[in-house]
Amino acid sequence: MDKLLLAGRIARTVRQAVPRMVVQGASVLGICEWVESEIARMGGKPAFPCNVSINEVGAHYTSPPSDATVVPDGALVKVDLGVHIDGFIADTAVTVSVGSEYEDMVRAVEIALERGVQAVRVGGKIGEVGPIVEKTIRSMGYKPIRNLTGHQIEQYTIHSGLSIPNVSGAETTGKFQPWSVYAIEPFATLPRAEGEVIEREPGNILHLMKLKRPKSEPQRGAYDEIYRRFRTLPFARRWVASIGEGVRGLLAEKALYEYPVLVEASGMPIAQAEHTVITTDRESIVTT
Ligand code: MN
Ligand code: MN
Repeated sequence: MDKLLLAGRIARTVRQAVPRMVVQGASVLGICEWVESEIARMGGKPAFPCNVSINEVGAHYTSPPSDATVVPDGALVKVDLGVHIDGFIADTAVTVSVGSEYEDMVRAVEIALERGVQAVRVGGKIGEVGPIVEKTIRSMGYKPIRNLTGHQIEQYTIHSGLSIPNVSGAETTGKFQPWSVYAIEPFATLPRAEGEVIEREPGNILHLMKLKRPKSEPQRGAYDEIYRRFRTLPFARRWVASIGEGVRGLLAEKALYEYPVLVEASGMPIAQAEHTVITTDRESIVTT
C-alpha cells in the first residue's frame, strides 16, 4: 500500500508539471527524458517509457534514440506516464492543448474520468464504467474511442488482462475487487471520426514476452539485463541502446514484443485522461 501510494504521489507530481513543458516547438525526446528523470529524481522508476502521442496518435509513441520531432502548433498532446516502486505501479495521463481548438474535448475526457473513477467501488460492476464514460463524452459533443480501455494492474504487470471498457454494450462481467489496482482512462475524438484506433508501425516500446533465458550470446546477456532492469514491464529502445545487438537478436527470436503505435482510424485527433485507483476492503483511493 505504501509503495502504491508513493508511486501515485510521484506520478501525480510529474503529471501536474507536464503542461508547462509541452509548448510549441518543444522536443518530444526532451519531454520523454524530462519525465523519466523527474520520476527517478523523486525515488521512483518509470513503469513504462513516457508516451507522447500527438493529435491522431492515441497511444504508444515514445521517442526513438535521436528523435527530431517537436510539438507542432495547434497540437493535442497526450503525455502518459507510469511510476513503479518495486513493481507497484501508478499510471496516469494528461492531454495538453497547444493552441488547439479542442480544449473542450480535453474537458470532456477529464469529466468522464472523474465520473468513471467514482464508479470504481468494491462490489460495483466493472461494466458500469463504460456507459458513464460514453454518456459523458457524447453529452459534450464528442465520441469515445471504443477499442481503448482501462485495465487492472498487478505487481510488475501494467495490463493484467482485465479490461475496463469506455463504451456501453461491451460484454463486461465481474465486479471491482478489494485490494486491487485499476486504471481508468477515457479517450475521445471528434463526432465525425471513426472512433477507433488501428495499429501503425511498431514503435519504440518493447517488453519481454518469453521468460526463457536464451542459450547463445549476445541474446543471453541482453535478456539478463532486460530482466534485471525491467522484468516484464515495457521499456524504450533508447534505454537499451548499449545492448542493441542483443535486443535485435531477441526481436528476431520473438522474445520481445514491440508495441505498435495506435492511431485514430480516420486520422482525427484524440484526447485522453487517466488515473489509477486502488481499492481496500471498503474504500477506493485515487493514487494519482
Ligand atoms: Mn497510461
Ligand atoms: Mn493505462
